[in-house]
Amino acid sequence: MTHSADYQIVPVPAFKDNYLWVLRKDAAAVVVDPGDAAPVLAYLDREKLLLKAILLTHHHADHIGGVPELLKRFPVPVFGPNDERIEAATRRVAQEDRVELPDISASFRVIEVPGHTRAHIAYYGEKVLFCGDTLFACGCGRMFEGDAPQMHASLQKLAALPVDTRFYCAHEYTLANIAFARAVEPGNRALQERAQSEAALRAQDIPTVPSTIGRELATNPFFRCSEPEVIAAAASRLGHPPANAAETFGAIREWKNSF
Ligand code: ZN
Ligand code: FE
Repeated sequence: MTHSADYQIVPVPAFKDNYLWVLRKDAAAVVVDPGDAAPVLAYLDREKLLLKAILLTHHHADHIGGVPELLKRFPVPVFGPNDERIEAATRRVAQEDRVELPDISASFRVIEVPGHTRAHIAYYGEKVLFCGDTLFACGCGRMFEGDAPQMHASLQKLAALPVDTRFYCAHEYTLANIAFARAVEPGNRALQERAQSEAALRAQDIPTVPSTIGRELATNPFFRCSEPEVIAAAASRLGHPPANAAETFGAIREWKNSF
């Protein structure tokens, strides 16, 4: 299929700042990373939708916590990475595996993006990406189980997708991420503009997600580890010039942890 995705993608807010993404077409639905069942079930019932599959990116509770409750109502396939901590997964998938979702006419390719967790995966199809807690709008996830070269390599895989790829991350962290990005790259004009437009959206309680890969290439410091201003920021944190982009990434990621 070369046409763009013809299912709809709807955010179901949960917890403080999570988005549980529901993909829907006709009476069928698929949910990505349902950390909580109640808001998903409320949405499905209100919209008279039948759940057909669950997609999981990694094992954290805010991404899988609602699965058992959803399975009681809808005994559907659960796609997830090879991580024994995700007990509910019935379809283990790995790099280049395909996830076929005929009920919503969607097909995804699995991309392994370890770093936030060791088994984190993303789902890509027709210029739509579900990336969990790996890539955020103007930021990236913490490295809980990976090192800087690994997480940097994972983000580079996503940076190589088409620039008009829309990505749906699992948290609304954008304004805090932009504040940090401006500290890293005070001279980035595109970032100044993004700060204004995203703040205007949040003031009206509108999600800043999805963003696009192209927008991140212009403004996300974790995609810009070869830019002189980002390298200089890393050097001042490290006390010496970084040896490569992965070291730059590590220094910036470390800074963000305490920003
Ligand atoms: Zn997580
Ligand atoms: Fe999360």
